[in-house]
Amino acid sequence: MTQDLKTRRQLHPRSLAAQAMGKVDPLTRAVVPPIHVSTTFVRDPDNAYSSGFIYGRPDNETTREAESVLAMLEEAQAGALLFASGMAAATAVFQALSPGDHIVAPKVMYWALRSWLLTEATRWGLAVDFVETDDLSQLQAAVKPGATRLVWLETPSNPLWTITDIEAAAAIAHAAGARLAVDSTCASPVHTRPLTLGADIVMHAATKVLNGHSDVIAGALAAREDDAFWNRIKTVRKGQGGILGPFEAFLLLRGMRTLHLRQERQSASALALAERLAAHPLVARVLYPGLPQHPGHDVARRQMQGGFGYMLSIQVVGGEAAAVRTAAHVELYKRATSLGGVESLIEHRASIEGSGTPCPTDLLRLSTGIEDTQDLYADLDQALRAGHG
Ligand SMILES: *Cc1c(COP(=O)(O)O)cnc(C)c1O
Repeated sequence: MTQDLKTRRQLHPRSLAAQAMGKVDPLTRAVVPPIHVSTTFVRDPDNAYSSGFIYGRPDNETTREAESVLAMLEEAQAGALLFASGMAAATAVFQALSPGDHIVAPKVMYWALRSWLLTEATRWGLAVDFVETDDLSQLQAAVKPGATRLVWLETPSNPLWTITDIEAAAAIAHAAGARLAVDSTCASPVHTRPLTLGADIVMHAATKVLNGHSDVIAGALAAREDDAFWNRIKTVRKGQGGILGPFEAFLLLRGMRTLHLRQERQSASALALAERLAAHPLVARVLYPGLPQHPGHDVARRQMQGGFGYMLSIQVVGGEAAAVRTAAHVELYKRATSLGGVESLIEHRASIEGSGTPCPTDLLRLSTGIEDTQDLYADLDQALRAGHG
């Protein structure tokens, strides 16, 4: 028998995650369940599929095990779905809409998804308006009752770490008859559970802190209600074949066992770095929701528990050239895109986003890993000095 810890008594999510819901392999009693690779499943003599597994494109047990951990972490009543990437997960939500539907999305958001909305989504007949979602009056003015079907948020959002009030945005979306979806990649369920604040769908680039080791591309959605829209999304994943493969699902499952440890450490380190960098003579500005001077600090204090996330950005004294030179001089940080791994990364965002980016050109984005905080600070300090030398 498979044990499900959840049915026993109220356990903290960190306990459930550490044991991946307490599942034990029924055949060997192994504490790590095997990776299920079969693409097909035997049918009963009476033609039924009593196991609930028919074919690997919709059905994989390893993927389902990882989904059950994520559903628990997000308190998702309707469950979770894993996709082959964060982009596959996000775009499935938009593809579940109908031509002519109106969407409101943030002006500053994950760059690749913003480009997809501007190009592919419009080809599908979706109308998208971009607003500063942290300004609730702009959001209110942008939703069109009866026409707007989806409000998309990202909080904290790339790369300024803008905070949007999920509860207030949900009220605005719902009053207009729209659903609210939240890209919660940078908060993670350790700090924020959007579904408990009124969101209908939560999305993650599981590539980032959920897996945490920069070795899996994966995406996830989790939903509050098992309604027609959630079933449309399941149909999109099944039809387009966007399910996460079993080997990736296994790595993600292993990563999520240590999610709380990593996220708490990374967020504590990010806060300490933000505080010290705010006093650095070569740093013009630190963008981090944990700092009282950040415009989203008060909302972040309400909707984020136990920390403000592992992401921060700095604007460097001396502009773009000094920022690029600073990044050139890091020794411990890795100069690379992406975020949420155990290794710290630094990136000059404007140059990767290209023309039309709303990202300030003097901005360096920092993803905080699990290295020693003092080592990270010392590396940034020497790189800033060398970059201005
Ligand atoms: C990385 C990322 C995505 C896209 O995820 P992929 O797994 O790279 O497709 C979406 N949103 C945010 C906030 C991200 O950081």
